[in-house]
Amino acid sequence: MKKITVFILLIGLFLYTHNSAIASTYSTTLTDKDSNLNNVTLRQDLLCLMLAYPEYILNIEGNDQEGIYLLMKSGRKLLYDDKRNKSSDQKLANPDLQDTLEQVYPLSTVRNILDKDFDPGRCRVYGLLTEVYGTSKQSVESKLINVNAGNNHYQFNGNNKAADSLHAVMSELLPLAQGNSTIRNCIFPCSGTFNYRIIAGTNQLSPHSFGIAIDLAVNKGDYWKWSSRETAEKRLSTYPSEIVEAFEKNNFIWGGKWGHFDIMHFEYRPEIVLKARYFKEKQNSEELWYEGAPIQEVSVKNLIEKINLALRK
Ligand SMILES: [Zn+2]
Repeated sequence: MKKITVFILLIGLFLYTHNSAIASTYSTTLTDKDSNLNNVTLRQDLLCLMLAYPEYILNIEGNDQEGIYLLMKSGRKLLYDDKRNKSSDQKLANPDLQDTLEQVYPLSTVRNILDKDFDPGRCRVYGLLTEVYGTSKQSVESKLINVNAGNNHYQFNGNNKAADSLHAVMSELLPLAQGNSTIRNCIFPCSGTFNYRIIAGTNQLSPHSFGIAIDLAVNKGDYWKWSSRETAEKRLSTYPSEIVEAFEKNNFIWGGKWGHFDIMHFEYRPEIVLKARYFKEKQNSEELWYEGAPIQEVSVKNLIEKINLALRK
């Protein structure tokens, strides 16, 4: 009997130690993988931000413990990730840079209103916007330039190629609008660009305050606060893809791809479009985190090296 008991105890001990060894290997693997993914996303986000705001982001500072910061031209530092768990509403009210890039904007055609909390690009870091486009109404106004579009002109921010990009969109859309009444009626009359105002129901400035957003012709199905999803989907089903593609090609996002839809609204957000263009697919390899970006371009290659250097362990 004694021998059998000892034998069972030994087997039990073997299974116990063996299983905990497996369990600890498994959890280490998961943690490593998670941190790899975080690292990949961090680097991809930094690259998109630095490519999107090349004159305004000078460098990356800090480390994992103290936080990673973007060093801006003014000397101000912007925190990448506050490491707080937030609800969608909290992200909207108080986002960090990581929150603004978390949902990847879909560049493919969308014919249905997306999920309620899928709003890629709808949260904005105001420290970044004020740094690039102006810190007050007067300072934004001093940067506005007129973008000509046929018989009209629209005031848009001259910084960071925002106005140049709207000009490129309009140059592409005007000839199309002349020959196509659906396109023409979705663009004109344009409902406005620069308007220094708070978003209704919030205490946050609208992106129109910075001269980086344009509302095209308005329709009763356009806005989540005054339209049903059903009416909005009817509007989406006939909305010309030529308009959306011309804007996206020039680094604008469209409010028609938000669960909180705003179909007339287009907003210049190069970092959001660059992430969608380069990093739509999940990349798990830390070494090849930049795969998808145009690494043949010298500016991209230099930034990849800068990021790797700043974040070296
Ligand atoms: Zn708008």
